[in-house]
Amino acid sequence: MLIAAPRPETWIRKSSAGLYCEPGDFYIDPLIPVARAVITHGHGDHARPGNAGVLATSDTLAIMQQRYGGAAGGALQPLAYGKSVTVGDVAVGLLPAGHVLGSAQIVLDYRGTRVIVSGDYKRRPDPTCAPFEPCACDVFITEATFGLPVFRHPSDQVEIDKLLHSLALFPERCHLVGVYALGKCQRVLALLRRAGYGEPVYLHGALIGLTELYESLGVPLGPVLPASGVGRDALKGRIVLAPPGAIADLWSRRLPDPLVAMASGWMRVRQRAKARGVELPLVISDHADWDELTATIDEVGAAEIWVTHGREEALVHYAARKGYRARALALAGFEEDEE
Ligand SMILES: [Zn+2]
Ligand SMILES: [Zn+2]
Repeated sequence: MLIAAPRPETWIRKSSAGLYCEPGDFYIDPLIPVARAVITHGHGDHARPGNAGVLATSDTLAIMQQRYGGAAGGALQPLAYGKSVTVGDVAVGLLPAGHVLGSAQIVLDYRGTRVIVSGDYKRRPDPTCAPFEPCACDVFITEATFGLPVFRHPSDQVEIDKLLHSLALFPERCHLVGVYALGKCQRVLALLRRAGYGEPVYLHGALIGLTELYESLGVPLGPVLPASGVGRDALKGRIVLAPPGAIADLWSRRLPDPLVAMASGWMRVRQRAKARGVELPLVISDHADWDELTATIDEVGAAEIWVTHGREEALVHYAARKGYRARALALAGFEEDEE
């Protein structure tokens, strides 16, 4: 007798601790410490400390160890892209998500049904991480940080050229660029190198650890120097990278006539750039824009689309109109700001 596969929502569902896979008895990117966690990537709203067991790519585990030390987790289990392990009754696999180094989509196979949890992802090439790998599935759980048609990211090359052009135009000014510590900092460095910029780039102390880690994991980023302790005059005409929180505070006041830039998908929103005192907004995003989100939904060919993590409504509407079974998952605990 043929027994129908159980509906996916009966075995993978939202709980107060995050997305829970019952037949595997594990949580994906849990909000609180759990016995078994599968982690998509190292950003703080996805990878939290204190889980007893953690399954992730080796790069993500290295990032978690760098950030949390011994609190990264009890048993750390690395899994390579394209490989799979059995956890409880579920086969768990990881595929590149193209978001930051180590970022993974989580592939879950249970009783003939495949569910893929995208985590954060983008589709355009990024020299610092493996490209997103689309994979056919029955349910695709997609992020939607930039899930509105107004979000169409420009080419990152054009944005980096803006920075280099400004540097040539204002050689007396220090160019201070706000970047998130994990991913964006290293991507901006790599994009500068690709554009032919070979000068040392100066880093705020909070960015040095992860940048060195990327280098040690095989991502070349060119010469970098700590910004602290460098004389004011020596920073004229230089590029200094700092976390977004540092660009407006006391730290930046010792820089010579800083021209404040910021690299973020949110720089597409004029008011956000203004509110942060950003003179040179650089729209460089580590999340898929509207076109990438919709193209990905069409590409993976899942009959069901669950939308989470951001602007859920518009994407649910898009998917439903195209004939997919679509719903908003509304997971708690994710910050739209950390890219
Ligand atoms: Zn996120
Ligand atoms: Zn992220």
